Amino acid sequence: MDFKDFLQDLSSLEVINKDNQKMSVKLKDVSLQYANALRRVCLNGVPVFAIDTVDIIENSSVLPDEGLAHRLGLIPIKTDLSRFNEPSKCDCQSESGCSNCRVMLVLDSGDSDVTRTVLSNELSSEDDSIKPISDKISIVQLTQGQRIKVECYARLGRGTEHAKWNSANISTLTDTDKKDESVLTVESTGALSPEQIILAGVDEVSNRLVEFKDMINQIKE
Ligand SMILES: [Zn+2]
Repeated sequence: MDFKDFLQDLSSLEVINKDNQKMSVKLKDVSLQYANALRRVCLNGVPVFAIDTVDIIENSSVLPDEGLAHRLGLIPIKTDLSRFNEPSKCDCQSESGCSNCRVMLVLDSGDSDVTRTVLSNELSSEDDSIKPISDKISIVQLTQGQRIKVECYARLGRGTEHAKWNSANISTLTDTDKKDESVLTVESTGALSPEQIILAGVDEVSNRLVEFKDMINQIKE
């Protein structure tokens, strides 16, 4: 069966179990190479948001600027794929981005009177739907008189570019005892729901196959 037929008929996907973080679906009449393509795309081929550029205005913590930027980059960010473009596909074609392909998050710890941990809930986003998936992710510890003040820019990206854009923590394929039938299990990072990852993954594999076919046809011509 062709993957495009499979897409038109989503009944090939039978949900076995599902919660907010993890979902397993049975792939029926889907040959192993397509099932494995879908598994890989679910892991690192569906775009999600991550902080990519950090302007450090003040950092008197013990963590060097690069360390601070790295920690900020690894915070999973809630993603809304319907409203934002990947920078390479955005009409603005601008290096600094626009409101359709970039979201600013700012954090100012203020001066600390006591030793305390700065948490992800102190990041304030210009867009309510694009923000850390949890309020309790530690960023840095500050002691008396220390402060961090940063401006961060998050954008859509893919895990193939950097693991901080991985759409899933886990994406596995297990065999069943029938031919052309396997079980795909996807555990989300929290950026998207597991269901969104699998559906976007199906779209992505289909689009790539169409592009590939076009490429082959061009070569033939
Ligand atoms: Zn743009």
